[in-house]
Amino acid sequence: AKKYIFEKQFVGLPKATDLKLVEEELPPIKDGEFLTEAVYLSVDPYMRAYAPTVKLGTTFIGSQVAKVLESKNSKYPVGKYVVGEFGWRTHTIVDDTPNPRGFPSAWLIPDPEGLPLSFSLGVLGMPGNTAYFGFLEICKPQPGETVVVSGAAGAVGSIVGQIAKIKGCTVIGIAGSDEKGKWLVNDLKFDTFLNYKDKDFDQKLLQATPKGVDCYFDNVGGQLSTKILNRMNLFGRVSVCGAISGYNDKDDAKADAVQFALVFKQLKMEGFVVHKWMDRWFEGIEQNKNWIKKGKLKYRETVTEGFENMFKAFVDMLQGGNTGKAIVKV
Ligand code: NDP
Repeated sequence: AKKYIFEKQFVGLPKATDLKLVEEELPPIKDGEFLTEAVYLSVDPYMRAYAPTVKLGTTFIGSQVAKVLESKNSKYPVGKYVVGEFGWRTHTIVDDTPNPRGFPSAWLIPDPEGLPLSFSLGVLGMPGNTAYFGFLEICKPQPGETVVVSGAAGAVGSIVGQIAKIKGCTVIGIAGSDEKGKWLVNDLKFDTFLNYKDKDFDQKLLQATPKGVDCYFDNVGGQLSTKILNRMNLFGRVSVCGAISGYNDKDDAKADAVQFALVFKQLKMEGFVVHKWMDRWFEGIEQNKNWIKKGKLKYRETVTEGFENMFKAFVDMLQGGNTGKAIVKV
């Protein structure tokens, strides 16, 4: 059996010497255990992103499709295929206890109905579910809306764009090569492709989004995402899925902190303008008044005397000269 040990923490782009391929002898399996042999292994951006949390000296993280070679667990008969987060290794003894996150350490692949088993690591696995739930549940796309997908030609993005088409949206896919773009437009029927490396990208983005953007599925973060956010329509929805533009950033301070935190701390970002609650306007005023009268709400003003001092009051306020509400008393 062979496995990759995480030798050195990645700095910038991972280097081959950061991982070490080693051989190992596996013991015989015990009751309840089964032995698998990897058939397909997955490589995913999260491996780079999660690397700082991986203990040095352990097997590097990852999922695989594996065949059951020996079994002392009737739930996993010999010859069946499983998906497991076994790491970068050829052979694994699995004991069927949930992993530290509470997920099963392996699950039997449902009848693939003629589809390749490797799909269990993509469209019929984690990336597929990322696209399905991450897009539909957060973006809630409506027919006729404009959807932008970054990382569009990847595992997740390519599925997101297609689900968006199924939902009757206009779909703009962004990726890093024109070849990928041809695939997206010609085969996957995306409406438009934009190459983020194109020097005229900004202009093309404007042209491609005459009605603005209603939904943005963000796989990449960074400057590209800032540009898309600035094309969003009122009440647009953004599903922040990944931040790959920052994963290899050598200088951590430069890595895109906003998207990193959003993804990995599973935060929710939603903007608003107060007039959203116009129909409940007086409810708010009544409630605040009530709280003030009961002494539960404190309130303060900074008052500038004289209409002629309007400008001064204004710039003072802009520079923090006020405490509480800035007011001009004529
Ligand atoms: P992909 O198949 O999309 O592969 C990664 C792609 O990222 C590359 O092909 C490359 O395509 C693109 N890329 C690399 N560097 C940059 C950059 N600097 N700027 C823009 N694009 C770049 O990977 P996945 O579909 O598996 O994952 C896509 C994203 O989704 C990742 O950010 C990942 O971390 C995230 N993810 C999040 C999950 C979640 O639960 N939140 C679950 C699964 C994935 P190109 O040629 O276009 O540059």
